[in-house]
Amino acid sequence: MSAEITVVANGQARAVAPGTRVREVLDGKVGRDVVAARVDGKLVDLSRPLTHDATVEPVAADSPEGLDIIRHSTAHLMAQAVQSLFPGTQVTIGPTIEDGFFYDFAPPQPFTVEDLPKIEQKMRELAKADLRVERSEVPREEAIATFGRMGEHYKVEILKGIPEESVSIYRQGDWMDLCRGPHVPSTRYIRAFKLTGVAGAYWRGDERNAMLSRIYGTAFATKEALEEHLRMVELARQRDHRRLGREMGLFLFDPIAPGQPFYLPKGMVIFNELVDYVRRLYRRYGFDEVITPQIYRNELWHTSGHWDNFRENMFLAPDPEAATAAIDTTPEGWRQGYGVKPMNCPGHTYVYRAEKRSYRDLPLRIAEFSRLHRAERSGVLHGLTRVRVMSQDDAHIFCTEAQIEDEVAMNLAMVRDVYTTLGFERIEFKLATMPEQHLGTTEQWRMSEEKLGNALRRNQVSFEINPGEGAFYGPKIEIYVPDALKRKWQVATIQLDYNLPERFDLHFTSSAGTEDRPVMIHRAILGSLERFIGVLIEHTGGVLPFWLAPEQVRVLSLSEKVEAYAAEVAALLKGLGLRASADLRNEKLGFKVREAELAKVPYMAVVGEREAAARQIALRLLRGEKSQVIALDEFLERLKREPLPA
Ligand SMILES: [Zn+2]
Ligand SMILES: [Zn+2]
Repeated sequence: MSAEITVVANGQARAVAPGTRVREVLDGKVGRDVVAARVDGKLVDLSRPLTHDATVEPVAADSPEGLDIIRHSTAHLMAQAVQSLFPGTQVTIGPTIEDGFFYDFAPPQPFTVEDLPKIEQKMRELAKADLRVERSEVPREEAIATFGRMGEHYKVEILKGIPEESVSIYRQGDWMDLCRGPHVPSTRYIRAFKLTGVAGAYWRGDERNAMLSRIYGTAFATKEALEEHLRMVELARQRDHRRLGREMGLFLFDPIAPGQPFYLPKGMVIFNELVDYVRRLYRRYGFDEVITPQIYRNELWHTSGHWDNFRENMFLAPDPEAATAAIDTTPEGWRQGYGVKPMNCPGHTYVYRAEKRSYRDLPLRIAEFSRLHRAERSGVLHGLTRVRVMSQDDAHIFCTEAQIEDEVAMNLAMVRDVYTTLGFERIEFKLATMPEQHLGTTEQWRMSEEKLGNALRRNQVSFEINPGEGAFYGPKIEIYVPDALKRKWQVATIQLDYNLPERFDLHFTSSAGTEDRPVMIHRAILGSLERFIGVLIEHTGGVLPFWLAPEQVRVLSLSEKVEAYAAEVAALLKGLGLRASADLRNEKLGFKVREAELAKVPYMAVVGEREAAARQIALRLLRGEKSQVIALDEFLERLKREPLPA
């Protein structure tokens, strides 16, 4: 037996004594920028002793894993601060979440936001004290006894549910918590954090249990990163599409129809302009538009597989001519009643089947903007980005196996066209591959994945593989756009489907005279128009491109004396087909300008007596420029040149 073990760290192998700590083999590289390590791929504390041959890699503070460790360590720091400030408070759990963490406490009094500065102050003191964070393993029974003595009943309950005989405990100063870890080596590693809110939460998410008091917070590797994050959060608050939608008069929501927007005339302009834009692209790319029924006999959903896999998300209705008005939601219930469509795909197979198809008809590209209804849980509804009704720029392409690559490549070109036009600087592509549960052979899957990969390469886009994330019936390309607030949205998808053509028994006559199955490609570019409009409003802060602006020009009169001229200017603008109005109210100019700015009108034409006499306007732009007096004719010419996409 060798007295030494071989450790590969930073790419170099060396022999060390067993028991050497991880931090020692990472050499001088361990400052506060390294918070933990991976030993043979497993995340561990820097103080963990090495017992066998292993590969050791540092975990940087600003890496996703590093941030997770920092955030959970900050949750511990917060719990320590809370328990020292509020005796009698019990701890429960404190996981990390996207961009932060929370900890649920059982305090004598629920916490309020007023408590947060005091807790933060205590956390700063504890961080400065540089308390070592130490891990120890204890028998589970011993841990139960210890936490029981401390009056930590929730921890005892958690421990009783753990099957392992031994558990790990993390201590810092006089505070300890049951935890898997890993953690930062000492509290001084926690440099940049902020507590962001409080909320009530039931123990284990169950409303029959006690109400706990939750504190939310966030932490980053550096102060700069934290400040940048908080700036983005504030910007997101200001740009919240629900708020801008109200201010700009675009849409409204009412509890009478949860998750379903009422588009107001101005919101309808955005909706229609986007549809018109996509329609122009359809003409160029060879798509034909259809409208298929909204409500189908459930037999359709049985054939498509939606009845078995999606009916909880569907709005069902009884058959108006049946003796019973009851809705049968059991697996056999598809034999009666109706379902409102959550997707267009099954309906499109009827358009395909309407004629006997030959290879000459393919590819057949069918598009539809119909309203789709999905019974999303009320708890997840969120403005336009999570709704119960939507329109998609949905299309299905029926094609031969040999046409897949060209069709996908063409749709990828369209994706780039659309997102560049709409002002998104980056587009990210992922290829989602064969999941564990799948139809067809591995060989078929590899072939179709290869085709999607080739189509991506032909468009010279780099892409990541999203392993195992394809649908059970085929691989797909997922398309993401990062917005101005550094959030990433999945918008478009291009998805191969071998299953629906099978289920609906679709076929075509091949050039050799045989009956073959077509492949179906589901694809949407904007995705849900509702969601896309929500994203676009937040991305642009409501300052939309001219062609999408609900109101493009507003004429602002300075006094009653120029009313006629202001009205004439507005009429001329409307004559050009522009969306223009005149604000002739007897209000101060500053007030009128502010209102136009709030409505995000890109051009404001101010007219006073001097402008009226000289047939001029004073032009103000929404985006900052100083106002400038120009001839009315010149203004009209300039607006005529405003570009329309595609
Ligand atoms: Zn923990
Ligand atoms: Zn589809």
